[in-house]
Amino acid sequence: MAVKLETGPLIEVLRNTSRVAVSTGSGISAESGIPTFRGKEGLWKKFRPEELATPTAFSKNPKLVWEWYDWRRGIIAQKKPNPGHKVLTEWEKNFPQFSLITQNIDGLHQKAGSKNILELHGNIWKLRCINEDIITENYDAPLKEIPPLCQDCGALLRPHVVWFGESLSSTILQKAFLLSSQCEVMFVIGTSAVVQPAASLPLAAAQAGAKIVEINPDPTPLTSYSDFSFRGKAGEILPLIDGELKIISRS
Ligand code: NAD
Repeated sequence: MAVKLETGPLIEVLRNTSRVAVSTGSGISAESGIPTFRGKEGLWKKFRPEELATPTAFSKNPKLVWEWYDWRRGIIAQKKPNPGHKVLTEWEKNFPQFSLITQNIDGLHQKAGSKNILELHGNIWKLRCINEDIITENYDAPLKEIPPLCQDCGALLRPHVVWFGESLSSTILQKAFLLSSQCEVMFVIGTSAVVQPAASLPLAAAQAGAKIVEINPDPTPLTSYSDFSFRGKAGEILPLIDGELKIISRS
């Protein structure tokens, strides 16, 4: 069914905007076939992500945690960016100041062609030595050994992602808040807006005077703070907004 949206007022705002920030969550990759955590496909065997993506789970059973990550890497490796990701690569080129902040760890924004991405929660294709903190990229899917070991010192490697109960890099977080407070419009796409501190970025943007645009099939705690709420899929709504923008910029 074709989506019909009232985009006019937003387009009017975007016409006069040069500083745009976008914050994405797992929903933007859902149409690429990557399960979100809070959907039922997020389950692996009988485990919930909250039971596996933790430092305690890793220290108790690194093999089990790596088997789960290996399963996820196998799914992600086969997936392609969708039209939602693609639109953001265009916006990076077209808005004078554009920043992309993501909670996703799947690397699909990079695969789509986005260049400047602030990854709040790390990247599933990066591994970090628990002894030396050295980060390496590894695209093997499946991994050659589980759990993988550091070639340098033989210690365990862990996924270079932020687990439940861990803090985000303060440098990345500071940058994310700075970008949020400097934008004129912030799009919040495909996030349930419950995972902190990512969920506070749009609030910081709103406090600094930015308009908030939410794109999500379901309402979230952010909905009541949003100036524009589009109920639907990112892969449909973003191309619609982009299409309207292109028409305006030609006229
Ligand atoms: P979440 O699972 O909590 O919420 C996903 C949100 O996306 C929901 O609000 C849902 O309504 C919405 N959504 C579903 N389909 C959509 C679509 N087609 N278009 C737009 N929105 C859609 O995800 P979260 O808020 O990102 O938080 C979960 C945490 O899990 C994050 O920290 C993230 O790092 C991690 N995670 C990442 C991935 C990934 O990298 N793709 C996948 C799962 C979880």
